[in-house]
Amino acid sequence: MIACLEQRFLPDSEAETRADDDVSSLCKALELNGSIDCGSVGVASKDFGGLYAVKPVAFIRPSGADDLVRVVSAAARSSNLTVAARGNGHSINGQAMADRGLVIDMRTMEERIEVVSCGGADYVDVSGGALWEDVLKRCVLGFGLAPRSWTDYLGLTVGGTLSNAGISGQAFRYGPQTSNVTEMEVVTGKAETLVCSETQNPEIFFAILGGLGQFGIITRARVLLQPAPDMVRWMRLVYAEFDAFSRDAEFLVTRPEGDSFDYVEGFVFVNSSDPVNGWPSVPLTPEQRFNSGRVPRTAGSVLYCIEVALHYKSSDHASTVDMAVSRMLGRLGFIEGLEFHVDVGYMEFLLRVKRVEEDARANGIWDAPHPWLNLLVSKRDIADFDRTVFKKILRDGVGGPMLVYPLLRSKWDDRTSVVIPEGEIFYLVALLRFDPAYSKDSVVEKMVAQNQEIIQCCMKNGFDFKLYLPHYQSEEGWKRHFGNRWTRFVERKARFDPMAILAPGQKIFSRSRQP
Ligand code: FAD
Repeated sequence: MIACLEQRFLPDSEAETRADDDVSSLCKALELNGSIDCGSVGVASKDFGGLYAVKPVAFIRPSGADDLVRVVSAAARSSNLTVAARGNGHSINGQAMADRGLVIDMRTMEERIEVVSCGGADYVDVSGGALWEDVLKRCVLGFGLAPRSWTDYLGLTVGGTLSNAGISGQAFRYGPQTSNVTEMEVVTGKAETLVCSETQNPEIFFAILGGLGQFGIITRARVLLQPAPDMVRWMRLVYAEFDAFSRDAEFLVTRPEGDSFDYVEGFVFVNSSDPVNGWPSVPLTPEQRFNSGRVPRTAGSVLYCIEVALHYKSSDHASTVDMAVSRMLGRLGFIEGLEFHVDVGYMEFLLRVKRVEEDARANGIWDAPHPWLNLLVSKRDIADFDRTVFKKILRDGVGGPMLVYPLLRSKWDDRTSVVIPEGEIFYLVALLRFDPAYSKDSVVEKMVAQNQEIIQCCMKNGFDFKLYLPHYQSEEGWKRHFGNRWTRFVERKARFDPMAILAPGQKIFSRSRQP
């Protein structure tokens, strides 16, 4: 079966081999409760990356899981149709697209965000197409509760982030979002609706988490909740040297709960007055100023910043919060005078990137292409990565944040489909390019080429790394990505989506005519 599936891997000529299906009669035969649009499929052929434009034959707005079963069954009866669940289309490389296939708009499925208590714990049952932003508002405002693990930006769908991992500054403690789900309802590539958990249908449960949409469509997820704090002290601490930065960041993520912050991230910025890439990108409020006179003369082309947050209740006395913060800051070696902090509400903190979105929309950057690159790099190689990539290739910045912060392998579940570097500590590296000049094709091409240069540099140096939100054009690339997990991934595909109907935009498998 593995060999058979491997043979089906067709990177480029997939479209040519497809037969012509009578799409409109198929659409009629579907008898959906929702709707189907074979005309204006524009939205479904684009994504946040803006690098690819791929047209489906239809954009489907399902009303519920039954519609998904109908769509997948119809695709299976056809000789060539594929089905892509589209969350909020925030992929970079066309992962939620389907070339002449059916794209399902998960956002229009009936939204469910319901808090449930069970076995002494609180959970939220949420539909796969719900935005995390809406989950936050419902849980905090309605119940004073919140999921434990987030992404930085919450305009993403539950199904979309669970298909990858879902990483932010809480992941060092609670693991990625995939480690915080206890149950899901899914529609598989065989059009079966299954409820799954660690004990019920565990094979599909673990396959789907981080499974890049390959095995089933998540229609509902049960996410663990905890009491929400009222307030957050949000801080940024500047470092001149990577060694000191990474030592302190690793110290913070390995402290026990109660002896560290509730959120730990970090980023690299350019040691210059450049308004986007340099010193001005660090202060948290317009009133705060970056005193560059504090930067040691020995500092190099880039500087580093640890970003942390401490949760508290509005009833906590200010001096209690100050004391807890000073105790932790006292153990760190950031540059004196280059510490910034602000107290904000918990929701405001979690919705911080929405403000970036609003500004970026206002000046046109949000809709420009985003040739982003996300990597997971082992602690073993992160200092070399800093030397070769941040200090050299990216010494002038990327026109947006360059995140780098440590995570702990023990908080990730090996049974899921996500692959991460070896070793207990590894770093998330995210190059989040925002630049109006990207509307010019030549600039985008240069940036894509720079991403390739970085990947090649990691490979040439033998770094232990994985792409996060991976994108490969060849079977060799995917095999290397999954390493010794490739066989398991292929077996899971054969079991849950044997005709390779689902998530064709990932370009891992290609559609076959028979199971
Ligand atoms: P889509 O892009 O629509 O889909 C992604 C993949 O998942 C596709 O293959 C699709 O077919 C599949 N899929 C979608 N819905 C389902 C479903 N219900 N069931 C099964 N498969 C499904 N990621 C982080 O981890 N941390 C961050 O902090 C973070 N910040 C981001 C900030 C911005 C501004 C952007 C644009 C992206 C960010 N991401 C982050 C990346 C994000 O997690 C991915 O883009 C992810 O794919 C979620 O986006 P989406 O919901 O729009 O999914």
